[in-house]
Amino acid sequence: MIHDPDTTIEIKDTDIIFDCPHCAKSLAIDYRGAGLTIKCSDCGGDVQVPIPDGMELEDLDRPLEDQELQIIQLRRSLLKAQDRIADLENAVEDLMERRDALERDRSEQTLRMGSVLEKTGVIETSLKEISKALEAVSALCHTEAPAAAAQSASV
Ligand SMILES: [Zn+2]
Repeated sequence: MIHDPDTTIEIKDTDIIFDCPHCAKSLAIDYRGAGLTIKCSDCGGDVQVPIPDGMELEDLDRPLEDQELQIIQLRRSLLKAQDRIADLENAVEDLMERRDALERDRSEQTLRMGSVLEKTGVIETSLKEISKALEAVSALCHTEAPAAAAQSASV
């Protein structure tokens, strides 16, 4: 079904001629192959046969049967749907990237919050130690006060 225009002389006006997206080889295929995925005759890669815009009955030297035309229209719809799916997949990818960025921001915030909490904890511990020291000082003052009073009484 597929032949190489460089080496084959038999190319009909109705053939679809296009370049392989992998190896850039010029390919020709019967119009009935429009929208099909074929193997490149040169590199063997999967190639989507383009559907020429406005492919109509009068462009062909041989009339297309209704069924054939319908099949090609269906393939065209399928290709459009696949394009739409690809667009949606890209949109989903963008959203996931944005979500990941937000997630990163949030974990950075959490880390920063964690270090603030850690410092707060250090301050609280220090305050408790200071408070204990003050209590000790206060206790010393209270125990020394009666002694001082006794001393002054004995004078
Ligand atoms: Zn190729």
